[in-house]
Amino acid sequence: MLQCRDVQAGVVGVASPLAEHEEEAVAERAASRRPRPPTLLLRGLLLRCPRCGRRKLFSGWFTPPDPCPSCGLSFNRDNDATVGWIIVNLGVTEILFVALGVAVLLATWPDVPWTGLTVVAVAVNGLLPLLLVPFSRTVWAAIELLMDRMDGPPAGR
Ligand SMILES: [Zn+2]
Repeated sequence: MLQCRDVQAGVVGVASPLAEHEEEAVAERAASRRPRPPTLLLRGLLLRCPRCGRRKLFSGWFTPPDPCPSCGLSFNRDNDATVGWIIVNLGVTEILFVALGVAVLLATWPDVPWTGLTVVAVAVNGLLPLLLVPFSRTVWAAIELLMDRMDGPPAGR
């Protein structure tokens, strides 16, 4: 009887590490299928779904995309997503605006073409945000994935 308990304890002792190993292997496989951060951001910059890479998500330049038909990733989950892509949009616009302004100032100092620079500044700040709308949406979706905000629990849980 004592030997039987020992055998059972041994079986339990062996089975438990196997179960843990199997869970770790499942977690590693799930992690290996997840795109790496540069891949997520590159897909966003190329107007692809950051999670699966699917193309042609937009029906119009200013139309928010529906959830990805391949993986179901939502691009309009809540108000935070709207604020997020607008921050990306205006942030990129202002970084490019400042970089352009500094480059023109450095290249033309002391004879800076102020009138031309003003016209370009207005054009950049007026048009660039419109051009960046879809890119901002997909890049923000990639950033949300990176923050694990849009990832649900692994399948099977
Ligand atoms: Zn997708």
